[in-house]
Amino acid sequence: GDPFLSVRDLGVRFSTEDGVVRAVDGLSFELRRGQTLGIVGESGSGKSVTMLTVLGLHEPRTTEVTGQIRLDGQELVGAGERTLQRLRGNTMAMIFQDPLTSLSPYHTVGRQIAEPYIKHTGASRRQARARAIEMLDKVGIPRAGTRVDDYPHQFSGGMRQRAVIAMALVCNPDLLIADEPTTALDVTVQAQILDLLADLQQEFGSAIVLITHDLGVVADVADDLLVMYAGRAVERGPAAEVLRSPQHPYTWGLLESVPRLTGDVDQPLAPIPGAPPSLLDPPPGCPFHPRCAHRQRVPGDACATERPELPVGRGAACHLSLEQRRTHVIEHRQPGL
Ligand code: SF4
Ligand code: MG
Repeated sequence: GDPFLSVRDLGVRFSTEDGVVRAVDGLSFELRRGQTLGIVGESGSGKSVTMLTVLGLHEPRTTEVTGQIRLDGQELVGAGERTLQRLRGNTMAMIFQDPLTSLSPYHTVGRQIAEPYIKHTGASRRQARARAIEMLDKVGIPRAGTRVDDYPHQFSGGMRQRAVIAMALVCNPDLLIADEPTTALDVTVQAQILDLLADLQQEFGSAIVLITHDLGVVADVADDLLVMYAGRAVERGPAAEVLRSPQHPYTWGLLESVPRLTGDVDQPLAPIPGAPPSLLDPPPGCPFHPRCAHRQRVPGDACATERPELPVGRGAACHLSLEQRRTHVIEHRQPGL
């Protein structure tokens, strides 16, 4: 069938005092029901901005959005605030990195889970409270019936993130967007939260977009991966293929900077040298060329002048030949994430 979420040639520009920031440029991707898409990149790559734009949470007066965002056949670019408000929480929901930005300290956890349920379903307070207990139980809060009246500060960090997930899922959203949902948590709790999301996806059939700077986080849970750099998609494909045979030098760099879970844990990480470019004045040609160690292998310095296109389907936006990329992957075979 048709993809549930389809983004075509998305452009997002902000006006700032210093000029126009091209936060997202020509981005296209698709997501089917029940599937998880991992969007990976450093901060400032445009991954969060993309999903805030899908939710219609960008600042309308200073932001220009071009292209298409289709959710279940409905066009969201240019949709009215009332339409977007109805969709938010009901059809699409978001989990942010820091649960304290989503939870109010002044209301009980149960009330905050119940509220969107009442708003979107018209349930009574009693029904919504029962539903809040049910959701707290589903996300693994022990003795949910007694914790439902607690305030956020009475919960641990991991429990707060579970409560935020309960809040996001209370209306069975078809699309769940999770932006660095585990970054603030320790490794054990991170793994538990990712398992939880996968279980809930099984149960509810939601499509999930998981945004992260850490390829290690999405390795186990994403069906497809989209790697973003400087507001553009530079590589995409089935997650297993991208991780097994990455095709873009930026993805190579990301993989080399992921802590190994197996093998020699003392092996030092190799962060990518340099910093992402300013999006006020993005470099011509390949946006990665100022940092790329492979640029000299492309004849005529095309990397600095010609913009490489991302092919449809599996592939990378890079001027290296497929043979050059294959050789690199074979020579730098990693023990795996
Ligand atoms: Fe590097 Fe050139 Fe490929 Fe860009 S196009 S990633 S600069 S080799
Ligand atoms: Mg972000």
